[in-house]
Amino acid sequence: MKPIQVMGVQGLPLIQAGDDIAAMICENTPLHEGDVLCIASTIYSKSKGYTKPLLAITPSERAVRLGNLNGEDPRFVQAVLDASTDIIMEHPFILSELSFGHIGVRAGVDQSNIEDGMVIFLPPDPMKAADDLRDEIKTITGKDVGTIITDTCGRSFRRGQTGNAIGWSGMVAIRDFRGDTDLFGHVLKITEEAVVDEIAGFANFVMGESNNGVPAVIFRNCPAWAGHDSLYFRSEEDITKRVLKKEWS
Ligand code: GDP
Ligand code: MN
Ligand code: MN
Repeated sequence: MKPIQVMGVQGLPLIQAGDDIAAMICENTPLHEGDVLCIASTIYSKSKGYTKPLLAITPSERAVRLGNLNGEDPRFVQAVLDASTDIIMEHPFILSELSFGHIGVRAGVDQSNIEDGMVIFLPPDPMKAADDLRDEIKTITGKDVGTIITDTCGRSFRRGQTGNAIGWSGMVAIRDFRGDTDLFGHVLKITEEAVVDEIAGFANFVMGESNNGVPAVIFRNCPAWAGHDSLYFRSEEDITKRVLKKEWS
């Protein structure tokens, strides 16, 4: 097996609405057949104009109440509420579900790596975003490159944020070990490995969070894996969500 290579894409400009990020990346860096390209959701959203000035947002009564409760600008809170389909927790921060199944702190709405007074929303359909990006790269280069849209997310039980995959194309999310045998012949009953999140986590490490200016990371020579795409729990399976919702209903 060839060693896996991980390369940050350097030298991309500040992304503006209308930018063709697939073309910009392909121009900047040669991609190989079978590479996996991770893109920070931030630049995808900026390129598609999924951003808003706080000045254009009028907070609702609920946004004002939650802004006071959590010490946040009610217009920012309104952006979070607008991006959410279900509020799971209100305090000390909003934890909510988005239309595509992701559950995240403040609905993944960011105020960093954009001009003052602006918010960035997560792409509304990141699976389609990953598909589109992959198609565009195929058209430009003729190469089949897997794509992952990443976001930096908080997590339960442990300090520190890590990169998560919110959209992917050209691979399955989960490597399913169930039915495999371990070194001692025991049949594995539970283990499903969230490979897209592991790759997103490493990509996030290469990107950094602040002023690196590295919003894309290429993985070369990843071995193939098989499994399925059900990364998100169904509502009835999600024990944490059920407990939190009881607390806040
Ligand atoms: P998120 O994890 O998707 O919310 O994105 P971050 O704001 O954490 O940014 C991830 C990486 O992309 C960091 O290295 C940022 O400096 C970089 N980045 C963010 N926006 C841009 C941009 O418009 N142009 C470039 N070149 N880098 C950016
Ligand atoms: Mn983010
Ligand atoms: Mn980040």
